[in-house]
Amino acid sequence: MSDENKTAKVEPLRKMRPCPECGKPSHREHYPFCSNRCRELDLSRWLSGLYAIPVADDEMKADYKDEE
Ligand SMILES: [Zn+2]
Repeated sequence: MSDENKTAKVEPLRKMRPCPECGKPSHREHYPFCSNRCRELDLSRWLSGLYAIPVADDEMKADYKDEE
């Protein structure tokens, strides 16, 4: 008969994602980052991004005032 049924489904190995912060191979303990430092770096950047929104709005008001 045919050998087609013999073909086992080979699942691809989990690809190691590079650290989103520095591009190094991620560490299992700090997935998806390579280290605890990079994880905190990403977190602080995310938080600062949130705080940046009201600051930008403030700058626009200041610019408007300047025209008077
Ligand atoms: Zn990293």
